[in-house]
Amino acid sequence: MRIVLVGPPGAGKGTQATRLAEKLSIPHISTGDLFRANISRQTELGKLAKSYMDAGNLVPDEVTIAMAKDRMEQPDAEAGFLLDGFPRNVSQAEALDRLLETEGITLDAVLDLEAPEAEVVKRIAGRRVCRKDSSHVFHVSYSKPAKEGVCDVCGGELYQRDDDSEETVRTRLEVYHTQTEPIIDYYKAQGLVVTIGAMGPVDEVTGRALEALK
Ligand code: ADP
Ligand code: ADP
Ligand code: ADP
Repeated sequence: MRIVLVGPPGAGKGTQATRLAEKLSIPHISTGDLFRANISRQTELGKLAKSYMDAGNLVPDEVTIAMAKDRMEQPDAEAGFLLDGFPRNVSQAEALDRLLETEGITLDAVLDLEAPEAEVVKRIAGRRVCRKDSSHVFHVSYSKPAKEGVCDVCGGELYQRDDDSEETVRTRLEVYHTQTEPIIDYYKAQGLVVTIGAMGPVDEVTGRALEALK
């Protein structure tokens, strides 16, 4: 299966993507995680991306699309993938369509996670991620690790993302509404969008997603 996950920052895309990818046996491809891995390795791409990310803005399309393409061309993505955080504007969606067309493949669904703003703000405020791998995600009250400040998955140190500050979150929500939400209409025109509510316990949302993808 080839799936795109969309939804506002903090909706639970990463959390759900990890679970769905495992259930569906496809790789979870998160452009945010790929950028953060580049930042921690201090690559040129990481240095470039960091200034945009810290301001809550999108990283320029050219580098983002090249990075996503490179990841989608890895052997493990041949049978399918779950894209989390890409595409994030209409021009990225068009680039993805061209890429898929070249490969002679199509998307199966675009899963739209819907959550009220008050909820995503609470989720982001308490989010803690692992320094070793930012796809290991926790929350100070909704999803506590067994030992405070320590990742349950790999033992790494948990920290608050630089862009999860209150001020940057306002910008990211604005960017979501103006730049990312239009891709929902873009994909509706292709008949691909399935919308589910992101409220409630993590497992319930996963169940809803699997049902919607059937
Ligand atoms: P969120 O929790 O907001 O969904 P992500 O980890 O997906 O966060 O993204 C964090 C940041 O990484 C974004 O605010 C943006 O700066 C950058 N980023 C991630 N994916 C993309 C993309 N497809 N295009 C441009 N920038 C991106
Ligand atoms: P996104 O990738 O959309 O930005 P995350 O998956 O990182 O979102 O989730 C944001 C925060 O909300 C994390 O701290 C996560 O533990 C928490 N979270 C995710 N899903 C739920 C849920 N169903 N209920 C409560 N908190 C959740
Ligand atoms: P409120 O105070 O607004 O009623 P809560 O703090 O009870 O909200 O919960 C906020 C969100 O986090 C809800 O979507 C709820 O289902 C979810 N949530 C609460 N506790 C947990 C938990 N232990 N695991 C996963 N999700 C949780």
